[in-house]
Formats: sequence, structure tokens, C-alpha cells
Amino acid sequence: MIQPFDDTYFMKKALQEAQEAFDKGEIPVGAVIVIKDRIIARAHNLTERLNDVTAHAEMQAITAAANFLGGKYLKDCTLYVTLEPCQMCAGALYWSQISRIVYAARDEQRGCINLNTKLHPKTKIEGGILAEEASALMKRFFVEKRNLN
Ligand SMILES: [Zn+2]
Repeated sequence: MIQPFDDTYFMKKALQEAQEAFDKGEIPVGAVIVIKDRIIARAHNLTERLNDVTAHAEMQAITAAANFLGGKYLKDCTLYVTLEPCQMCAGALYWSQISRIVYAARDEQRGCINLNTKLHPKTKIEGGILAEEASALMKRFFVEKRNLN
């Protein structure tokens, strides 16, 4: 069966990135940026490896997508991310003027929604796509981490 290019398809790609982060011992968050059904950026959290609190998946994906497009604005692009963006990433996404943000799992504590981080008026945000898979990976990460200590 041919898989359609829909939100679930692209969120699966973001989850693959999250799995890569997991395998490196990073908090498993992955992101892809898509324009016209084409993935132009893939990234996963690398805050430990890069020793950089700004190395969230979304931040790297924004930079990679802008490089690919040769322009700083991500109009007509959709970001798929496995966890609701934090305030820093939502702020960066504001500046990018991205058209759409789709996240999987909610982050009640540090996510941009409960913290009322302002998004660009042109940006639509929605969530819940493959949320269970994304939170299961996150839970597994923290359980394993606890068992190692
Ligand atoms: Zn973030």
C-alpha cells in the first residue's frame, strides 16, 4: 500500500528522529520541516552532545530549513515535532513566520501553550498526532535513565 503524505506520515519521520536522539542518550524529541510534501530539514535534540541548551530539535530544523530555502522565512512550511515546542522554540518559530506547527505530545509544564508564548499571527498550531507513541518514547527514556542511576 502506498502511504499518503499526510500528518501521520510526516510525524512518523519526526518520531524516527526522536528515536535517534533516544539512541544517543538525548531527551527524545525529533522534528522535520516539510514544504509541498517534501522534507527539507530533519533534526533531533542534541543538547547533551553539543553541550548547548539551545540545541533543541526545532531550533536546528529551523536553521537547516532556512539554509535549504536560501531565505530566513519559512512561509508555506510545516514543522512536525514530537513534543509541543517550548518557549524558546516557539519564539524562534515566531520569527520564522512558519505556516503551521504540528506537535505530537503535549508539554503541560514547559510547552508554549500553557505558558502563552505568542506565535506569529500567520502560524497555525495543532497537536495530538501520534501523541501516544511520542509520550511512550519519552516515558521509556526517563525510566531507563532512572534505572541507570
Ligand atoms: Zn524547545
